[in-house]
Amino acid sequence: MDISVVIPLFNESESLPELASWIERVMADHDFSYEVIFVDDGSTDGSWDVITDLSKGNPCIRGISFRRNYGKSPALNTGFKAAQGDVVITMDADLQDSPDEIPDLYRMVMRDGYDLVSGWKRKRYDPLSKTIPTKLFNATARKVSGIKNLHDFNCGLKAYRLEVVKHIEVYGDMHRYIPYLAKIAGYTRIGEKEVRHQARKYGKTKFGLDRFINGYLDLATLWFTGKFGAKPMHFFGLLGSLMFIIGFVAVTIVGFRKLYDMYHGNPYILVTDSPYFYLSLTMMVLGTMLFLTGFIGELIVRNAPERNHYEIKGNIGNNDQPQA
Ligand code: UDP
Ligand code: MG
Repeated sequence: MDISVVIPLFNESESLPELASWIERVMADHDFSYEVIFVDDGSTDGSWDVITDLSKGNPCIRGISFRRNYGKSPALNTGFKAAQGDVVITMDADLQDSPDEIPDLYRMVMRDGYDLVSGWKRKRYDPLSKTIPTKLFNATARKVSGIKNLHDFNCGLKAYRLEVVKHIEVYGDMHRYIPYLAKIAGYTRIGEKEVRHQARKYGKTKFGLDRFINGYLDLATLWFTGKFGAKPMHFFGLLGSLMFIIGFVAVTIVGFRKLYDMYHGNPYILVTDSPYFYLSLTMMVLGTMLFLTGFIGELIVRNAPERNHYEIKGNIGNNDQPQA
């Protein structure tokens, strides 16, 4: 099969028939063999009935329905597990993404050799309250992830080589950072394609402004787990030792100053009267705690089932080793 289109949706019943027939048209025009996987994320507006009807008219339409609303990432992850096409394309169900982009995206993966191609909604039809924070968000994501050529991390329209979606796990709200997840998994040929964007035709957006706060927190998590997930002590140990050493040196200075002044008959103050004493003490306590956090992190990593899981790209002559 050439293409799997994975579509996460939550209460989008009005858009679905139009979207399905549009995709059908594009696929027929280009002679693609395909499947459409609608992942109904616990809709309560009858979306699932619409999908059931659509699937009766076209055997290429498949559906998965969650019992309750879990979020876009769980929906995508479930669709990724089910996908079988050589190229997997994700798009939003609200008709903001255009199925006309599918043939080009398919070519970029199959012919140009990209692992992942992300859409770029250069001209957006969204309210300003969304577009301005989005710019900031993308600038940060570029910096932290090191993927410098992407303008629009969170674009719903993306294309992947099948292997990529089988090797990444999208959970929580991590759909915003799939390119980063792919990069962490070792898929670094990441491209971008400018795509047309349209205003939402039916229904309303499912994400409020909290998306930006959560987005930044998730980015911090990814940065941390990507860099130190397998060796937390390198993070906590360094910070902890630095703090402890600074605190220790400072408290020693405070103590020696008192002894010095005392010895030379100068007026002196009690160690406990110096604010530096308390600052140093706090630093030493915090440093110790950070250090111990590192140990606990290491204990957790030791027990993590995936601590020795690596993505193998090639393998010659080692038949008992995992294959690519
Ligand atoms: N969506 C979902 N589960 C959710 C929220 C959203 O599957 O809990 C789907 C939604 O139906 C749409 C896509 O994710 O197909 C993008 O959502 P939306 O259009 O609301 O986001 P925006 O375009 O405003 O960023
Ligand atoms: Mg939308």
